[in-house]
Amino acid sequence: MDQLTQLVDSLTADDLLAIEREVKDYALAKGIAFKLANSPPDTVSLAPLTLFPSPFPRKHFDFGHRLQPLVNAVSHKIAYDHGFLADSLAKTVQVDDFTAKMFDVYTQVRREGMAQTTSLGLFRADYMLDERPDGGGGYDLKQVEVNNISTSFCGLAPAVRDVHRHVLAKYGASADIGDLDKRLPINRSTELMAAGLIKAYDYYNRSSAVILVVVEQVVVNIFDQRAIEFTVSRSRPDIRLIRRTFAQLRDAVRLGNNRELIVDNKHEVAVVYYRTAYAPQDYAGDQDWDVRLLMERSRAVKCPSIQYHLTGCKKIQQIVSNRQVVEKFVADRRDVDDLMQVFAGLWGLESGPDGDQAIDMALGEPNRFVLKPQREGGGYNYFGGQLARKLDEIRHTKERESYILMELIRPPKVPNHILAPNKSLAANSFRPSNITCEFGVFGTVMGNADEIILNSEAGHLIRSKTYGTNEGGVAAGFGALDSPYLY
Ligand code: ADP
Ligand code: MG
Repeated sequence: MDQLTQLVDSLTADDLLAIEREVKDYALAKGIAFKLANSPPDTVSLAPLTLFPSPFPRKHFDFGHRLQPLVNAVSHKIAYDHGFLADSLAKTVQVDDFTAKMFDVYTQVRREGMAQTTSLGLFRADYMLDERPDGGGGYDLKQVEVNNISTSFCGLAPAVRDVHRHVLAKYGASADIGDLDKRLPINRSTELMAAGLIKAYDYYNRSSAVILVVVEQVVVNIFDQRAIEFTVSRSRPDIRLIRRTFAQLRDAVRLGNNRELIVDNKHEVAVVYYRTAYAPQDYAGDQDWDVRLLMERSRAVKCPSIQYHLTGCKKIQQIVSNRQVVEKFVADRRDVDDLMQVFAGLWGLESGPDGDQAIDMALGEPNRFVLKPQREGGGYNYFGGQLARKLDEIRHTKERESYILMELIRPPKVPNHILAPNKSLAANSFRPSNITCEFGVFGTVMGNADEIILNSEAGHLIRSKTYGTNEGGVAAGFGALDSPYLY
């Protein structure tokens, strides 16, 4: 770690100018890029990334990977526990319209009887290192959230590692930074997540069927999505993937006699892979909710199914952070201990004395908490002063029940440079920034009420942001792609 820090500190402005250009070109050549919205269709731009990998403790890196099958299994079991899901979300659906709409789809599918009882999950659990309160300089791994739908960057993360390996091999040789193949772990996220799609495709077992990728109108993070598609195609040329927006599907989907999902009157769909549908604005109106409902009613395997999707609600994550709840879903006591270790403090804000107490606690020290609504995709949370104002505003309303309160995680700062498109490091006078890292572990899971057919970790991701900024989403414009340098 120290050698890497020394390397980052020792580079001159001239060194950095050259490395910056080279890393940007390497990254663009590897597809670490976004498509620009509101521009001609082939216009691309660098996706923000760090110049070097960031130091990350091997112990916590390994622990995150080891936990992933458990994280997958807990999500899976909740999704197939109707009573638990319904009880947990009972209040949320009264105050949050979006969750209510999802729950409504789930209820209708259940009432009719599920044509496809097996679900596929391509998940990602996100963590940060958290400074121990004892002041001894140690850190624990704490979970930020678990993403159950449209998890991004599994298609780009391996490429970031390749870029970072190149830059350290070329420019770090004199700095004694160790054996790069040990320090920079191989990341198979693209291949392993693609394998999940293939597994579901084979499970459906119809050779002429397709994988339907449901996408937004304008896909900024297109190369991430394409990397997975191309990986599926490369290993299984027999599998055809088609991409459609909700708008394109409105008049083009129907159910066959056995509730097959048919697109354009010719494609039977084996797997629906959602890369949209997680935010209210992804649905233009009721007609798009009708499309979602139709797909959920079909016998195609959904990634994720509506019940997997519901399991990713922030409300569920808050409820699951309780030991008694974990024990309900995890048999082995050591596994329970492991999971409990990574949960930060989480509180619901239901009307009543417990919720009141949580609000008073947060108002007393707003800088120690994060306030989260039932949303995904970045940019929705409240921190510090904004949290206090929001809590004041909602404390006497029902609306407060649609939020959860979380203890603030305090990750260490590490020196690195963040490369942004069309901006030179000169703009920062070539000084390294202090950044903080969010560590994601991908996971694949497939199963039904009776059995789990697939359950595996599926590679990793580091996203970093400037120290002191609150949110970290890369696509949302807050952070940069990164990779771990293990120590
Ligand atoms: P989203 O579904 O919008 O991604 P997250 O829970 O991941 O919601 O929060 C978004 C970002 O906010 C995270 O990437 C992280 O940078 C920051 N964040 C969330 N929870 C915490 C926390 N408990 N402590 C510190 N930062 C947090
Ligand atoms: Mg997140």
